[in-house]
Amino acid sequence: MQTILLIEDEQAIADTVLYALKSEGFATQWFSLGGEGVVWLQHHPDTALLILDVGLPDGNGFEFCKTIRRFSDIPIIFLTARNEEVDRIVGLEIGADDYVGKPFSPRELAARVKAILKRTATNGASTTPGESDFVIDDARARIHYHGTLLDLTRYEYLLLKTLLGQPERIFSRGQIMDQVWSEPEESLERAVDTHIKTLRAKLRAVRDEGDPIKTHRGMGYSISGTVDES
Ligand code: CA
Repeated sequence: MQTILLIEDEQAIADTVLYALKSEGFATQWFSLGGEGVVWLQHHPDTALLILDVGLPDGNGFEFCKTIRRFSDIPIIFLTARNEEVDRIVGLEIGADDYVGKPFSPRELAARVKAILKRTATNGASTTPGESDFVIDDARARIHYHGTLLDLTRYEYLLLKTLLGQPERIFSRGQIMDQVWSEPEESLERAVDTHIKTLRAKLRAVRDEGDPIKTHRGMGYSISGTVDES
């Protein structure tokens, strides 16, 4: 069952939206605060779609959307009481998939949810297993890149796996160290840079066009590409 996350501070609106979604067969999760919803989403990356109110007690929905886009490409529909065109444009520019102006019909909203999920499911279908850029074989601690098995050290494997765990997310060197290095004496941030360098060389040896690992100056590293587990 697909789960829809709703972040909306008005109880009456939330109730009707949740009811409409449940009647369409969706599981639902509701938060009235943006901050709580973002934290929940971080722990539930399988969530199918987010319905996000613009005016929230603890901040602006557009700002929460920007935060979410740093770690998730979940489809987002904005609920906005402000019907100015500029708000709509801003909403879509910052990575939203759709918006619904209040007042709205909960049934129409549920229909839009289904339409977006259908659209994104079709996009995802083009990435069939075996065609992904990276394939992680966790049991054997191996990773294939464009069909080629990478010859990785333990640290390189753990580092690459960490980055691939959330493609496009920026990991700071500290976060990478926490995930990859177990022994504190090895916890030098320079070590991350060194292993990123050797990892890049190995990926380049397989495919010499474009570097999937991106350096974010002063912030850390992220990786691009589709991922599968074998
Ligand atoms: Ca509101």
